[in-house]
Amino acid sequence: MSWTDQARNGRLLIVDDAMENIQILNHVLGDEHEVLFSMSGEKALELARQHQPDLILLDAVMPGMDGYETCAALRAAADLRDIPVIFVTALTTPEDETRALEAGAVDFITKPFNVAVVRARVRTHLTLKRQSDTMRELTLTDALTGVANRRCFNDAIDNEWRRCARGHAPLSLIMIDIDHFKLYNDAYGHQAGDACLAQVAEAMVRCAGRSPDLVARYGGEEFVILLPQVDAQGAETVAQRILAGVYDLGIPHRMSSVGDVVTVSLGVATIMPGEHRDVGELVKAADQALYQAKEGGRDRYSVARVPD
Ligand code: GH3
Ligand code: MG
Ligand code: MG
Repeated sequence: MSWTDQARNGRLLIVDDAMENIQILNHVLGDEHEVLFSMSGEKALELARQHQPDLILLDAVMPGMDGYETCAALRAAADLRDIPVIFVTALTTPEDETRALEAGAVDFITKPFNVAVVRARVRTHLTLKRQSDTMRELTLTDALTGVANRRCFNDAIDNEWRRCARGHAPLSLIMIDIDHFKLYNDAYGHQAGDACLAQVAEAMVRCAGRSPDLVARYGGEEFVILLPQVDAQGAETVAQRILAGVYDLGIPHRMSSVGDVVTVSLGVATIMPGEHRDVGELVKAADQALYQAKEGGRDRYSVARVPD
């Protein structure tokens, strides 16, 4: 089996203070999965953050941070809490099991290991993890365009607002609306309209899709682009790129009053997040700027004046 096949079968992190146990588990699971290992809870958290494993096999009893503490720390971290944990333990009283489940484990493997049981449990939990990843992805993605949906954007803007406030960094937002899109549908049909939306979204991702930038469908033919740690000048540059990027798609629009091809209007706003302001101000400012761009003749961007 090639390395990429192993990765497809899931990435495991095995945490055990005894090298012997790691070796046994690696022997049992290494053929089928990509295996990382750590000999302490502290190091496991670091590795998990770095490599985002699909499943963690965690020894309950370890010096320093034990399995229960490590599991609780994983559950408390937003970027790690979705990684399932299987406890590996020689302790098998109902109290031990309860304690592990309460710490957030999804299952147990008991020592000494039974090879068939270990393989089967790991496979089951990797399958469940893949299913829940797919579900999460679906609930955060817009089906038509493949970009983030409104729900994903709402979560992201709240998180980035807090992150920028902590780091004293600016947060920019661009609101984008396709010009005369109702007329586009009237002229070419709804299916062509859908295809146009997908193409415009793709162009926006090309112009501003690098992490942590987020392109999202805000609703109908309106999109938003969230630009963390980007100042007003940077946001204006992105807006110019999108204006040109969509125009250059050259999608014919014979009913548009603006030109022969599909165009967009954009509203750009930048704010320094802080305690005395709220995220609604940023959205409102970008929305008002978009309105100005429409009023000003479409196929252009307008920059909001946000007071300091
Ligand atoms: P303006 O330049 O002022 O933005 O004019 P507009 O026609 O683009 O704006 P309006 O809000 O009047 O119409 C938006 C149109 O977008 C109406 C709706 O049928 C179309 N639309 C919204 N969502 C979708 C979609 O998912 N697919 C398609 N094909 N059309 C959509
Ligand atoms: Mg609209
Ligand atoms: Mg429109």
